[in-house]
Amino acid sequence: MKQLWIAALLAQFAIIAEAQVDQLADQVESKVIAWRRDIHANPELGNREFRTSKLVAEHLRSLGIEVKTGVAHTGVVGLLKGGKPGPVVALRADMDALPVNEPAGLPFASKVKAMWAGQETGVMHACGHDAHVAILMGVAEVLSRMKDQVPGTVKFIFQPAEEGAPPGEEGGARLMVKQGVLESPVPEAIFGLHVSSPLAAGRIGYRSGPLMASADSFRILVKGKQTHGARPWGGVDPIVVAAQIVLGLQTIASRQVDVTLEPSIVTVGMIRGGNRSNIIPDEVEMVGTIRAFNEPMRRDIHRRIVLTAQSIAQSAGATAEATVTVGLDVTDNNEKLVDRAVATLRRVAGGPNVFIIPKTTGAEDFSAYQKVIPGFFFFVGVTPKDLRPEQLGVNHSPLFKVDEAQLKLGVRALTSLTLDYLQGK
Ligand SMILES: [Zn+2]
Ligand SMILES: [Zn+2]
Repeated sequence: MKQLWIAALLAQFAIIAEAQVDQLADQVESKVIAWRRDIHANPELGNREFRTSKLVAEHLRSLGIEVKTGVAHTGVVGLLKGGKPGPVVALRADMDALPVNEPAGLPFASKVKAMWAGQETGVMHACGHDAHVAILMGVAEVLSRMKDQVPGTVKFIFQPAEEGAPPGEEGGARLMVKQGVLESPVPEAIFGLHVSSPLAAGRIGYRSGPLMASADSFRILVKGKQTHGARPWGGVDPIVVAAQIVLGLQTIASRQVDVTLEPSIVTVGMIRGGNRSNIIPDEVEMVGTIRAFNEPMRRDIHRRIVLTAQSIAQSAGATAEATVTVGLDVTDNNEKLVDRAVATLRRVAGGPNVFIIPKTTGAEDFSAYQKVIPGFFFFVGVTPKDLRPEQLGVNHSPLFKVDEAQLKLGVRALTSLTLDYLQGK
């Protein structure tokens, strides 16, 4: 009888908390939209998010949140200590924009220009990180207003350079971890979201276990022997060897690794060699990307790329120097955390709007946090309902669009995930 009574009380508290979150989310919605537009009109490339991080730090300070700035260059970390004892949970938003020219149209379209890889380019929030920053600023405000009831501590992580630091610089989640973002206090879990174009507005997509791929790069330098294009027997043709290597690499994913276990991809994205029709050059350079969802398979593919390049080159009397550079790890959602979180997301978005999505071969540096603590990363649909399919732009395209009505869903989702976790639900 007593247990029933406690259960009823807890359920009632959950309903009250949910109603309160909804009400506060309603109240901050217009501010969240205004922040998003402001950040959208003033986008900044990775490791250069000076204005954005200032905006974030000032907002967090105004809420009475303890703030640390300059983490991993421009990162901001806020600590909200709730009025009741409890665990520590971290929430993460990425702040950087992309070197993409934004077409005119939106009243808050970006006209910003910046230098990227030695060239001037337009800058656009074409991956929706403007929405992520605005959502997490909104979450900070909602949780601050409920501070006395919060049973634990919330760490807000505003991270630079998710899309990668400029050449020659360190940055992103890995650098934040290196600089101690997951220490003192150590969070028990971390949550993050991404606005997503393939998902319709109002929907939430999730997946337990591997969600997004690891992303590594490789470089192969094929060395032959230069000769006249009309007398190939007088040298060693690295162009034909490179062509064989491209095809050989494709057999790794299709013939050599277990396709029933996990998908994998090896893409050659650039080939450079030669300067004239009738000269066989000395060497050819190739670079590419590798995607995988499983650590042993990932390492196996690395080994096979080197072996394939070297063996094919050797068979033709050429040599190949092959190097693999390890990049982002698999975004791997902790199964226990996901089991707990799904009930919350269903309550927030409505059961039928929350569903399991396929793996995606894109990569996320959120994986760097998940390597240290359990984490859950999910997608929120933001494709405006009135757009025709041919008008849809995917993340990173200049046509990418965010339905601002979904920002509130993001605020409610992250706030409720935090409160439910802190309450042990
Ligand atoms: Zn992106
Ligand atoms: Zn992104």
